Amino acid sequence: MSFQNDSTGLPPSAPLTDTSLERTLREQQTLLDNAGAGIAFIRQRHVVRCNRRYAEIFGYESPEALIGQQSESFHPDPTAFRELGRAAYPVVSAGQTFRVERIMRRRDGTMFWGRLSGSLINPKDTSEGSIWIIDDIDEQKNAQVQLDAAICEKQILLDNAMVGIVYLRDRQLTRCNRHFEQMLGYEPGELLGSPSRRWLPSDEAWEDVGRRCYEPLARGLAFEGELSLCRKDGTPVVCVVRSKAIDPSDLALGSIWICMDITARKQAQSELIRVHAELESLVAERTQQLRETVDTLHREIDDRKLDQERIYWLAHYDPLTGLPNRTLLAERSTQAIEVARQEQTPISVIFLDLDHFKHVNDSLGHRVGDALLVQIAKRLRAVVREKDTVCRLGGDEFILLLPGANARGAARVAGKLLEASRQPYQIEHHELTMAPSMGIAVYPDDGTDFDSLSQSADVAMYRAKLDGRNTYRFFTPEMQARSVRSLQLENALRRALERQQFSLHYQPQVCIATQQVLGVEALLRWQHPELGMVSPAEFIPIAEDCGQILPIGEWVLRTALAQLKHWHMQGLTLPSMSVNLSAIQFRQPSLPELIARILAETGLSPGSLELELTEGVAMDDPRMAIATMDQLHNLGVQLSIDDFGTGYSSLSQLKRFPISKLKIDQSFVRDLGEDANDRAIVSAIIRMAQALGMETIAEGVETRSQFEFLRDQGCTQAQGFYCGQPQPADQLQIYLQACRKAVQSGATASPRQSSPPDIFTAFLR
Ligand code: C2E
Ligand code: MG
Ligand code: MG
Repeated sequence: MSFQNDSTGLPPSAPLTDTSLERTLREQQTLLDNAGAGIAFIRQRHVVRCNRRYAEIFGYESPEALIGQQSESFHPDPTAFRELGRAAYPVVSAGQTFRVERIMRRRDGTMFWGRLSGSLINPKDTSEGSIWIIDDIDEQKNAQVQLDAAICEKQILLDNAMVGIVYLRDRQLTRCNRHFEQMLGYEPGELLGSPSRRWLPSDEAWEDVGRRCYEPLARGLAFEGELSLCRKDGTPVVCVVRSKAIDPSDLALGSIWICMDITARKQAQSELIRVHAELESLVAERTQQLRETVDTLHREIDDRKLDQERIYWLAHYDPLTGLPNRTLLAERSTQAIEVARQEQTPISVIFLDLDHFKHVNDSLGHRVGDALLVQIAKRLRAVVREKDTVCRLGGDEFILLLPGANARGAARVAGKLLEASRQPYQIEHHELTMAPSMGIAVYPDDGTDFDSLSQSADVAMYRAKLDGRNTYRFFTPEMQARSVRSLQLENALRRALERQQFSLHYQPQVCIATQQVLGVEALLRWQHPELGMVSPAEFIPIAEDCGQILPIGEWVLRTALAQLKHWHMQGLTLPSMSVNLSAIQFRQPSLPELIARILAETGLSPGSLELELTEGVAMDDPRMAIATMDQLHNLGVQLSIDDFGTGYSSLSQLKRFPISKLKIDQSFVRDLGEDANDRAIVSAIIRMAQALGMETIAEGVETRSQFEFLRDQGCTQAQGFYCGQPQPADQLQIYLQACRKAVQSGATASPRQSSPPDIFTAFLR
């Protein structure tokens, strides 16, 4: 396509020759055809000529198609066209090129951006036309618009991002968004040009970040991490940071950093961790508590079970020996009795009490006593059969239940028990022997239930004790009657003192040689309103058993000595008052002191009191007995052994007792006339006493022949109905006065007088 030649379009200034003109035109044509821009020659608002590019831009197939086209059609509308004219005219008319970028219109009506430059061919004459060069910059324009939009978007992003965004170059801030500044507490623009060190807490931290991040950035990777930054005021900010190099191949172009403040999140997280940990520990604690509770519960259940077993055990067994106790025995007895009733078989019950067990406890202590009981329990168990029950009632009392055993069987068991008890028990370094007293009751004769059977056996055991211990007795109905009475007596005894039911009778003790009354023995009397006169031989053992003997004994001592004092005041100078002392009283450590006190109270000389002891006092613990006797002796009190000959005193013991007198038991005196043995015993006692330097007094002297025999044997004193009955104080006073008169009148016989003085016979009934 050729540029349309129009002579009017050529510059008029240069005069051209034909050849040069042609060449010029060719050159022009080549120039126009190959120009990248569209070029049009416009005159009178119509296209005179244009090049191919111009046609192309406006959507025409050839430049020729444009010739004569109104230039207004290249613009969106007439107004825009006029505006252009108005804008361009001053410039072009001044001979300059008018340049503008504006919207143009293609042939098909579509708009596009074009860059226009126009100039007049002759500024002085617009009619000569103008040249317009147009570039289609639509793409460029659109790209610019897009770029502007992108820039704008980026700015919006930067301005509104909830993260800090920083551009760094050479570790210096070239740009950042407001959020970053706010995050670190800086004013707008305050950070520009600052090194990143400014928001890191220390040089080391800064260097460390540098080391960690630039290596991945150089490899085109993002650096990601948590950094602790520092606000303007020094407070720390924890950030999650992500950065990337703008161009990894050239780190000098800088990097972009996106920082998100996670301080609050971190705090929330650590708070969450703390709360979680707290919760965990709480849960752990609760779990532990629960576990402990469960454990405790289990333990408690176990304990409860054990407790129940233990409670059952305690309720049914004796804790010391492990033997069944009374409760279990009662249960077993009831069962055994039921079987015996149905099968018509016997049952035997043995009540066993240890003789003098109390002394082991008192002298060797409870530990030894307990150990002894344990061994005894074992031995008892070993003697009986499997089906028998050995029960400890408490203290030194045991009951053996022997189902199927009749009296013979029970006697055999009792015999075996006696036999077994002969072997001494070794407790620590003590070798102890412990004999039992046993009572046997047999079902159904002696009782048809447990209580009556055990009661009967108890009564029989008591009998065995009375019969000298270390033996067994069968229950008899007479025993039953007696045991009922002893209960009655025990009850009555408890009130006898306060109800003043006691009194003392006094029995003279006479010198056989001179027949002078040397003293009296105080003998206790108990007058009960219902039971009548009760013999001391009956109630004293009961008073000893139930402990009443102590207050009663003290009352006797006081009353007897007060009476003696009274007689002295009356001028009856009776040399001595004998008072019976129970073994229980004798064992009271306070006895010497009590006696000293009473003597001091009455003002009597100690020598006027004689205490009658029984041989039994020294039996269990001779050493202690001797010590007590010595104490009493040292007080000046006289001591005698009552009922001598019935006990077990050995000659060697007797030697060591500070005793002044032996009282020959009345059982030997009673049959002196008939029994040669008794005569031999009595004369032996007298000789032994003489050998030991002791006096002798015979008890129960009732007859003249007894009196004479005793006198002939060298017995020094006599006491008995023959010499005077036990009588109340007032009567005895009459007796004493009569004696005194008789002495004064010379009626008393000389020593070894063959007949008893009248004074005695006067009182004989
Ligand atoms: P005992 O100490 O051997 O007292 C002598 C007993 O023989 C007295 O019996 C007395 O009444 C009795 N008797 C005296 N002369 C004759 C006689 O010629 N023929 C007969 N058959 N008996 C005679 P009693 O008063 O019944 O006393 C019995 C026992 O009771 C006493 O024996 C004594 O062991 C005890 N007893 C009495 N009074 C007391 C006391 O105050 N304290 C203590 N612990 N025991 C006392
Ligand atoms: Mg006596
Ligand atoms: Mg006696």
